[in-house]
Amino acid sequence: NMKPVQVKLVLLGEAAVGKSSLVLRFVNDEFQENKEPTIGAAFLTQKCRLEDKVIKFEIWDTAGQERFHSLAPMYYRNAQAAVVVYDVTKASSLEKAKSWVKELQRQANPNIVIALTGNKVDLVSGGRKSRRTSEGEDEDEDQDAQEVDEDDEDDEDYGVSRQVPTEEASAYAQEAGLLFFETSAKNGEGVAEVFTEIAKKIPLE
Ligand code: GDP
Ligand code: MG
Repeated sequence: NMKPVQVKLVLLGEAAVGKSSLVLRFVNDEFQENKEPTIGAAFLTQKCRLEDKVIKFEIWDTAGQERFHSLAPMYYRNAQAAVVVYDVTKASSLEKAKSWVKELQRQANPNIVIALTGNKVDLVSGGRKSRRTSEGEDEDEDQDAQEVDEDDEDDEDYGVSRQVPTEEASAYAQEAGLLFFETSAKNGEGVAEVFTEIAKKIPLE
């Protein structure tokens, strides 16, 4: 009865928001600083073990460029789940994400589970930091403090700031009936959670 349940999942979102990087983090637990753009689409699989079931995700990682838009329906047509990604440092990428959500809600399987994911939170303050504090991981306070300092340096190096407030995106997600996450493919924050929460939402037929 623990035979894997196959779930077709599609990633959608503007080019360069980190779709392929999220998949690479989930499937191989890796990150590449200068990931080459996806042409057409890439296919990967990964299992997700829950208490009562095993989900085998069949992942279609699509190209974000407009010239590939007409191919998208091929990938979301029979999908049971979609991860729609935007970049928290780029407001226009949330608008693009919203248009993907609209298209999915009109054209995809009516029961599709959609997760909205704001990626690259490592680039902005209040990403991993606030979450680590709230999780109370304080067995080794010195080490935590050191990691927080490193994040601050990163913020200055990149010189980027958050353009999409968490509350704004999460309010939209709630209104539209989506799961909502903020992630970093770079440091791994929140990535496993996206797939686990989707897996939990998939009905066992
Ligand atoms: P895609 O076009 O949506 O598939 O985006 P990619 O996965 O190809 O990533 C685009 C660029 O953003 C690459 O240079 C990645 O290394 C970088 N990137 C992806 N995810 C993250 C992240 O979480 N944090 C940071 N800092 N960079 C990221
Ligand atoms: Mg890609």
